[in-house]
Amino acid sequence: MTEATLEESRNANVNSPDRRHTMEHTRNIGIVAHIDAGKTTTTERILFYTGLIHKIGDVDDGNTVTDWMEQERERGITITSAAVTCYWTQKKEEGLEKLFPTVGHRINIIDTPGHVDFTAEVERSMCVLDGAVMVFCGVAGVQPQSETVWRQATKYEVPRIAFINKMDRTGANYQNAIEDMREKLNAYAWPVFLPIGAEDVFEGVIDVISQKAITWGAGEVVREGLQYEVTEIPEGLRESAQTALSELIDAVANKDDEIAELVIEDKEVEGQALKSAIRRLTCRNEFVPVLCGSAFKKKGVQTLMDAIVDYLPSPLDIPAAEGTEPGTEEVVKIESDDSGKFCSLAFKLWTDVYAGKLVFFRVYSGQLRKGEMIYNARTRRRERVSRLMIIQGSERKEVDRVFAGDIAALVGLRNIATGDTLCDESFEVTLFPPTFPEPVISMAVEPKTKADREKLGEGLQRLSEEDPTFRCFTNEETSQLIIAGMGELHLEIIIDRLKREFKVDANTGAPQIAYRETITAAAEGEGKYIKQSGGRGQYGHACVTVAPNAKGQGVEVLNKIVGGAIPKEYIPAVVDGIKEACKSGVYAGYQVIDCKIEIVDGSFHEVDSNEMAFKMAGIFALKDAFKKAKPIILEPIMKVEVTTPDEYQGDLLGDVNRRRGTIIGIDAKGGQTILNAHIPLKEMFGYATAIRSLSKGRASYSMEPLTFQQVPSSILTALLEEAGKRPGART
Ligand code: GDP
Repeated sequence: MTEATLEESRNANVNSPDRRHTMEHTRNIGIVAHIDAGKTTTTERILFYTGLIHKIGDVDDGNTVTDWMEQERERGITITSAAVTCYWTQKKEEGLEKLFPTVGHRINIIDTPGHVDFTAEVERSMCVLDGAVMVFCGVAGVQPQSETVWRQATKYEVPRIAFINKMDRTGANYQNAIEDMREKLNAYAWPVFLPIGAEDVFEGVIDVISQKAITWGAGEVVREGLQYEVTEIPEGLRESAQTALSELIDAVANKDDEIAELVIEDKEVEGQALKSAIRRLTCRNEFVPVLCGSAFKKKGVQTLMDAIVDYLPSPLDIPAAEGTEPGTEEVVKIESDDSGKFCSLAFKLWTDVYAGKLVFFRVYSGQLRKGEMIYNARTRRRERVSRLMIIQGSERKEVDRVFAGDIAALVGLRNIATGDTLCDESFEVTLFPPTFPEPVISMAVEPKTKADREKLGEGLQRLSEEDPTFRCFTNEETSQLIIAGMGELHLEIIIDRLKREFKVDANTGAPQIAYRETITAAAEGEGKYIKQSGGRGQYGHACVTVAPNAKGQGVEVLNKIVGGAIPKEYIPAVVDGIKEACKSGVYAGYQVIDCKIEIVDGSFHEVDSNEMAFKMAGIFALKDAFKKAKPIILEPIMKVEVTTPDEYQGDLLGDVNRRRGTIIGIDAKGGQTILNAHIPLKEMFGYATAIRSLSKGRASYSMEPLTFQQVPSSILTALLEEAGKRPGART
């Protein structure tokens, strides 16, 4: 059997005969971009050309389909990731049909947010995508947030194609954008389409592989009408199109043996062979095909759809998902296969006005029918799925069954959180959940009226189930409710949602920096909670060791007791105590991170020991050890990019220095100076006003969380003093 037929027979087995689109004809993609690069407009156009919406809405009118939430409309940005299903049949144009043989694909688009405050949403969607379209602005090229989302895509090994949008705008430069991708993103990026003209004379694209010109006529484009014209390449562009093709072949030959062989033997490289090789390399994350267009002017959208089908992987082209078996922690591979046991990941909760609580999920293997029971690996509970649906634009279409590789929404589950694995009870497995960054900002909230306190708590609880980077907790010392998130805008939107969805008005305090505590040395500690005067006493005693953990590893608590110095039934109480102490902080009242704690010894009393006493012993032991382990306080550091006309560079640099910033690089681009700096978040309050006055309103900036770093001693002293002043502060 040849490799190709082997592949076919494998695929024949994994697809149930009942499905409309096979897995080979399914794409799960995300459209990912820096805010304002044109992601919403591009998605909107795709939905139009796939027949999901009949009138093209412009973002500026605030009537797009994927931006459901009202705030998004008001702010003009995309916050939540909604999965939309659409269908695309590649156009069989004369001269192209040989190159585009497949017909009818199901494309699930997972909308990802462009604002940095919502990186959790991006991360969460990344883990269920098989491929991504990275949208860049043809004028700005690779912007700082594009770098962030690119890194996230790299982390989850998501194959990518690049769409250089806004080719119609003044200053658009395709070649610069590609160079930018190579330089800043280290991408092996090669154009498979070239622009015909730019700025206000951007007319269409050249398909490098088929060496044809594709142009769009002016005026409203309707689905069945003239969409684009395929013609010969205009005279003046033939040479550059030919050069682009030879460069593309060389670039592919560099990485792909089949094409390399043809090149070495001086044989012709057929379009289809080249495409297949590009697809192979793209799916392996070794190549990034680059396309261009103007979503706004409706040029280059159909070619983008074709490229999604041609180059991005189907669920069968990606490595099997991995999970662990509870108890053994053994790694299990979950192959995309309809006949396998059901296994899926809930990646998004959504409260829908009509359907109630929707759970968006990605099926990795098996099938699920409406009315069946599924098992939640986290809660260890079975629940019935009352309805299944796919979302098509603003419509919800009920379906009876979903298959491996599908993305859909289900209704009817009560106890569920983002990141839960939903599976067949006989196939208990936990899929690797995505990792989320630590919140950097917090604020106190209280209900405007006392009666609303319960409703406020409920609302916050619900919102934190939906969004893992949003946290809420009670400050034990002040009894204040605290919310924490990825930026001021993130928290503002939470408050807004409380008002709209939960009808609670809340007052908020000033935003505070979310400092963290950690340790720099190993130490031992002991905690005793013993009361034995009269009546039934209390007896808990635990010994722990603490050691620094690698950055980003969080707090790990391990039980190392052998031989029952603390009876097994009390270990969870000790762990709880330790975790509670870590949450409320030891050194200056900030959450502890990146610390490894082992419970190593202790003792118990036959009569007086109980859970509460051991919990207290855990708290005391952790505090004792932590204070001996050279604790430090960490502050969030932001990555800041400032774009300014040259003449303000000096003043802005001076200002960065005053803000304890470190300059990372100064570049010139398109007549502007770009300053890259790392600046503590604490020093960034009021930056928008400062930068405006320093540059007469001509400079702009963007920032995103980068890391946590030890605070200098002046700030440490202030924080410790403040901690000492807090009511109930402990020595
Ligand atoms: P998002 O933030 O990435 O979702 O970007 P949007 O789709 O909301 O677009 C941001 C702004 O850029 C809007 O004003 C759009 O009308 C505009 N825009 C989007 N695509 C293009 C394009 O291809 N050309 C031009 N000139 N403007 C565009």
